[in-house]
Order: sequence, then C-alpha cells, then structure tokens
Amino acid sequence: MSTADFPFPVSTATQAKLAKLNINNIWDLALHLPLRYEDETHITPIADARAGIPVQIEATVIHQQIQFRPRKQLIVQVQDLSGHVLYLRFIHFYPSQQKQLAEGKVIRALGEIRHGFFGDEMVHPKIRTDIEQGLSESLTPVYPTVNGLNQPALRRLIQAALKHLPDDDTLPDELLQQLHLPPLLQSLKFLHSPPPEYSIQDLHQGTLPAWQRLKFDELLAQQLSMRLARQQRLKGHAAALSGNGHISKLLQTNLGFALTSAQQRAINEIKTDLAQTHPMHRLLQGDVGSGKTIVCALAAAIAVEAGFQVAIMAPTEILAEQHYLKFQQWFASQGITVGWLSGSVRKKAREKTKTELANGTMQLAVGTHALFQEDISFHNLGLVIVDEQHRFGVAQRLALKNKGSDVHQLMMSATPIPRTLAMSFFADLDVSVIDELPPGRTPIVTRLVNSTRRQEVEKLVQHTCIQGRQVYWVCPLIEESETLQLQTAVDTVAQLQLALPQLNIGLIHGRMKSTEKAEVMAAFAAGTIQVLVATTVIEVGVDVPNASLMVIEHAERMGLAQLHQLRGRVGRGSAASRCVLLFSEPLSDLAKARLKVIYENTDGFEIARQDLNIRGPGEFLGARQSGVPMLRFANLEEDLPLLEKARNLAPLLINQQPQVVRKHLQRWLAQRAAYLGV
Ligand code: ADP
Ligand code: MG
Repeated sequence: MSTADFPFPVSTATQAKLAKLNINNIWDLALHLPLRYEDETHITPIADARAGIPVQIEATVIHQQIQFRPRKQLIVQVQDLSGHVLYLRFIHFYPSQQKQLAEGKVIRALGEIRHGFFGDEMVHPKIRTDIEQGLSESLTPVYPTVNGLNQPALRRLIQAALKHLPDDDTLPDELLQQLHLPPLLQSLKFLHSPPPEYSIQDLHQGTLPAWQRLKFDELLAQQLSMRLARQQRLKGHAAALSGNGHISKLLQTNLGFALTSAQQRAINEIKTDLAQTHPMHRLLQGDVGSGKTIVCALAAAIAVEAGFQVAIMAPTEILAEQHYLKFQQWFASQGITVGWLSGSVRKKAREKTKTELANGTMQLAVGTHALFQEDISFHNLGLVIVDEQHRFGVAQRLALKNKGSDVHQLMMSATPIPRTLAMSFFADLDVSVIDELPPGRTPIVTRLVNSTRRQEVEKLVQHTCIQGRQVYWVCPLIEESETLQLQTAVDTVAQLQLALPQLNIGLIHGRMKSTEKAEVMAAFAAGTIQVLVATTVIEVGVDVPNASLMVIEHAERMGLAQLHQLRGRVGRGSAASRCVLLFSEPLSDLAKARLKVIYENTDGFEIARQDLNIRGPGEFLGARQSGVPMLRFANLEEDLPLLEKARNLAPLLINQQPQVVRKHLQRWLAQRAAYLGV
C-alpha cells in the first residue's frame, strides 16, 4: 500500500492534515477510532439536566451580550419549552458565533450544565443550528483531530473509508469463530456508527466484542512482530565468546566473598549465551543490592579473555563512574586497559580514548551514552552491558541497537519487568534473575514521618552516628529548577550543621565536577563524612555498607522506583537499617498510594507491579520520552486474557499461516515497526 492511498478523492491539503494524525491510507482512516461519543439522539429539558452529565438541550436565544469583566466573554441567555433559562458562556468566540446565536434563534447546545457565576450555565457548549435536520439516530463519535480538520469533515472521511473498505479480514473465519471474535469490518462499522440501542456507557466498555476484536488484533500484531524479531536475532551472527578463565578466576579470587548461588546461576546462563554465534539479548534482573555488578564484570571478563572489547553504559554520570572505579580496581591490576567516556570528558582525553577504542588497545570502556555517539567506533566490540536499561530513552536504545546489531547485549535492571510487559514488549528478552541477596543483610525498617517532626529525625541521625554508623540525607526533588534544588541542598547542610554541630556533614549534588563528586564519595566511604546530604544523584549504584540510615525529604514527590532504589542504599551491611520518609501535607491521592506501597513492601518485584498499576506501562518502556504511543487500544493489565490468547496464537500462525502473519503485520504496524523490540 502506498503512503497516500485513498480510493476516493481527498485533497492534498486534507491529506497533509491526515498525515499529522498518522493517517496515510484507507485502513488508517478506518482504524482512527472515536475517543468518546456524544449523545445527540434526544433533547433533555433544561429542568431535568443534572450537573456533570453531558446533555443536549434545544432552546431559543433570548438575550446576548459581550461582557468585558473579569475578562472578555460572550454570554448568551437561552430558554427552552420547560421555561427554564440557561446561560451559554464563551471565553473564545468569533463574530460568526455571535450571528449564529442572535436573539430569537432556536439552537441546540450540547454540554454539561453546571452552576456558575450567572446561574445554570454551559461553558463552550457545542452548538447546532441545523435543527430542521432532526435528531441523530445514533451516538455521534468524537475523534482525535488536528487544527483545520473539524469533526464533521473527519467523520465524513471515515464514513467514506468504511464504504470503500474491502471486506478483507486479516484473520480467517474459522479462527475468529474459535476466538469468539467478530470480523474486523463489522467491528469498525459498529464503533464508528454505533447502533441506536447502545448507550454511551455501553460503548465505553472495553469488553464489547467490537473493542475486543481491535485490542486482540493490536496485541497479536505485537506478539507476531516480537517473535519475528526473535527469529531474526537467532539467525543473526555474533562472535562466539568463550574465555579460558584466566581473568575471571583471578577476579573472583580477589573479591573477598563467594558468589551467591543466584549470581552463579546468572553468570552460567550468560556464559552459555556468549558462547553462541548469535547475539545474546539478556536481562539481568536483581533487586537493589543483589550484586549485579560482579556478575556483569565476570561477563566482561569472558569477552576480554576471548579477545573482544566490552562497553559498559550507565544512565547517569555518577553511576557510570562508580562502575568505572570498580572495573579499574578489578581489571587494571590484570593489565587490562579500562577507559572512561562521558559528556564531561575533555576533548583531548576523549580523542585519546576514541583512538584506543578504534585501534583495540582499550579493552573495556565505561561511560554514559556518550559511548555510543556517532564518531565512536570500536575495533572489535563483542559485548555491550547496559545498566538500568529502562532509564534510557527509546532514541538512545535505538542508537545502541544500530551500533551493535551483531554484538551480545546484557541489560541490567533492578526494576523487574512486570509479567504483562515480559509477555509483550520484552518478549524477545531472555531473563536471568538474581533472587537472593548476599548473606548478612538485615531488613530495612521504613517509617513515614510528617515533616513537622523533623527534629525527631535529626535526633535519630545523631543517635545513628554516635553508634559509628553513617547517614544519607536526600534533598527534595525540585523538577522546575535545578538551581533551587541545589539551594535547598545547601540550606539543608547548614541546618543540619547547626542542629548537629559535632557531626561532619558533606554535600554531593549534580552540578559538582566528577572529581569533586569522587572526592566526597571517597570521604563518605572512608567514614570521614558521617552524614551525606545529597540531591538524588546517589539514587543508583552507590555502595557504602556502613550507612544504616536513609532520610528522604519530600518523599511524596518521588516515584516508586526511585524511592525503592534510594532505600536500597542502606541495609547493605550487617547493622539494622532504617529508612525515614519525610512527607509534607497535603498529599495527593497518587502520593498517598505510592507512600503506602513503599511502606508496605520491600520486595522490588511487588513494588514494580504496583507501580505499573498506578502509572501504566508507558514509563517502563521509555514511551514518554519517545512520544510514541505503544498500544492504542489494548491495556496490558485489563486485557491480560486477550494478551494470553494472542501469545498462544502467534507461534501457530508463524508456522502454519505465514501469509496471514504478513497481512496482519502490514495492516497494523506499518509505521511503528522501528520502535518495537527496542
Ligand atoms: P546491585 O545489584 O544493586 O548493582 P551491587 O553489585 O552494587 O548491587 O552489590 C551490592 C553490594 O553487595 C556490593 O558492595 C557488593 O560488593 C556486594 N556483594 C555482591 N555480591 C556479593 C556476595 N556474593 N557476597 C557478599 N557481598 C556481595
Ligand atoms: Mg547496580
């Protein structure tokens, strides 16, 4: 199908507007489904209208005036047969509307009635003057649209599309019967012009067969494309990496601890993957503190033993730097060159690293996404390790994918992928789980404390430090302004210093130079700094086992994943650890829900599951950054039964009916294929 394929006349100007809605052919038009419906099938007497429910009234204009205070607005007074008066209020209006609403005219207005300043009113109702047309016979669909393309025009185009659409279902009849799903064309016609016996409430139910059909098709398309991507990957080529163990053995000997059996299992799984001639695509998932770093270091060791380069990428500079320091410590002593690359690396140093990566003298490179900028090339990259993978945006993941389609990839995350996502967007990902914490950890006690009781918390800080332990104090997230956030952190240090003069209080924040941050972290690790005040830069990866108290200010502003990560910075040693979540009233419902979850749960998996419930899947996928809606119709949690059906069907179709697969994918994924499986 060509990009602008309409079997009926559509002007070039209209085509351009449709393109903005991602509508490029007749099928796109037909799949452009209503956001909601309006009921213009009957008239409600003004006297009977209840607040908050949209109604259509029919009335005569009895007065019109433009007011200028408190702001310019058009006020139209109307009266209907019930004798009741209603005010129609327009804050934006055109001269044509004034004419349309001239005194004496009979009009219909659709909107919600509410009690306003002037009395009962409708603000910006939808006005109809074609009352001789009679009432609509079915509910009126309302579509997402763009400037310059009004609802009636879009509705006409869609109706034309439905007339011209061939009855060409992608799924065979017998299959639809088995699945108890209606044909596609029938479903589309139903949703675009619902039969009069259905109410708005009915139509908004996702359980209607017509909706089920659309959701199923969408989920099936996704399952098919994920499976095909997997097949593609398994057919692809990558160097088989297997080492002789000379680096990894020494690395393990020098560690000072033995791997947990979960870590051992994970590294074995990775080892098996690396020895294959197709690219690994594996997620190493383990709660904060479960010990993912050493596992990925052992994977890196295997690649280096095999004579290949490894890139380790982390989402923030401070986390990347922690990895860099660890890798330095573990590998440099064995004569392996470890490089560092981030946005703040000076030009000269960057050039040197760039050269060494290109000629192969540098075996390990640690850094931020700066590692995958266009001008960086590797001599023989064999393995890419991505920490906190879900925190990278889709664009960055794409860049990485393009650089390394033929290299092994190991992703790491403390945020478990909820089951529904694992079955859908991450279907082409093998997962190793570290489900066991290293021995000797004590559970963290979490407390929710109103910020009015800050002084008690300061006492607790003092008490903790007297016992020889250390404290993190995390300053509030201030999204609007980094400067303000920094100011708050500086104030906090001053305030704590005043309250606890005998303690040594340090500060770390995002604006500091890398060397300064490293100095502060080193002082905290050595115990010279007892209380570390931090902006959220310490969120990931920081590892100081002697720290046993974490105070988080304005915890209500933070997301669940972030809170869980932060809390995971304590409880790493043998001392009983606490996390105090300071909150300020009033709390939004969302904030309350989050605080309850973090208070009641310590298991990262459960927290992530509840997070998904609260937020929806977009954030896990990085969809927010990309702006690409991942699923238009289906909802992974609500539509789990459909997802399961689609998942079972996909392999059968791929094996037995490849022509069906092709057709189905073409209809559903034309423009979005690039984003799937990233
Ligand atoms: P995360 O999975 O959150 O990245 P890290 O890899 O930073 O966790 O490990 C957390 C801490 O646990 C580190 O101090 C690390 O040295 C330590 N650690 C990792 N594995 C073990 C183990 N098997 N026994 C004891 N300590 C371990
Ligand atoms: Mg980590």
